[in-house]
Amino acid sequence: MDTLEEIISYSTTLKLPYLKQNIIQILDTAKKNDQTYQDFLHKLLHNEMLLRDERSREKRVKNAAFPATKTVDDFDLAFQKSISKRQLNELCELTWIDQMYNLILLGPPGVGKSHLAIALGHKAIEAGYNVSFVTMDLLMHTLKTAEISRKSKGKLNRILGSSLVIIDELGYLPISREEANLFFGLISTLHEQASVIITSNKGFEDWTELLGDPALTTAVLDRITYRCEVITMQGKSYRLEHRQSLFES
Ligand code: ADP
Ligand code: MG
Repeated sequence: MDTLEEIISYSTTLKLPYLKQNIIQILDTAKKNDQTYQDFLHKLLHNEMLLRDERSREKRVKNAAFPATKTVDDFDLAFQKSISKRQLNELCELTWIDQMYNLILLGPPGVGKSHLAIALGHKAIEAGYNVSFVTMDLLMHTLKTAEISRKSKGKLNRILGSSLVIIDELGYLPISREEANLFFGLISTLHEQASVIITSNKGFEDWTELLGDPALTTAVLDRITYRCEVITMQGKSYRLEHRQSLFES
């Protein structure tokens, strides 16, 4: 093996993909630009860091399992007036995640609850946090099958390892007694460990009927709302207002 081959082999073992993929070009540039040893090392390690950060970000986006890409910039505040520019900016600063505040987004279908939740999730990923997105329906399935399914176990572990957990669509589908208990268990675990965003089409007054037990509902709300911002989003459905028609009228 010549030294070049050895460098490539070392960079594989040491997990330095930037060096591995660009060795020829790195050496060429160094020669051409008469780089000092210090500049050479600095540039090499800097690019290796950038690549590592980018891969970690990509991995976190994949693990988050967002159903769509939604951004804060795409969120039209003129359409959704229940939240002010100042409030949105404050949410985007993400200090609430460090403080483990929860966010509850309430409102009828189409007002932008999921959009806002996903957009904040993306912001959190850019800032380096682990995020998990899950619908209430998938969450119930995941909790019920975690013991018997490797896939569910993996999903649950990612949820438990996240700084921000987004639970979307609480209230659309009925919840059994067993599910309500599992939900309470998860909320108790996440309490004081992560921030949770919950979106729901049902107000708190309807949560008892949803979870099927006043004591359990009180216990869930007690934990979720201890440090919490509730935003009630009103107005028309963005979908209905911007309905796209296949045929010109
Ligand atoms: P909800 O979760 O409240 O039912 P969504 O967040 O899914 O509503 O919004 C429905 C669709 O309308 C999505 O495609 C979303 O991107 C879009 N949308 C909703 N509100 C806004 C808004 N204020 N600005 C831009 N797009 C919006
Ligand atoms: Mg939604």
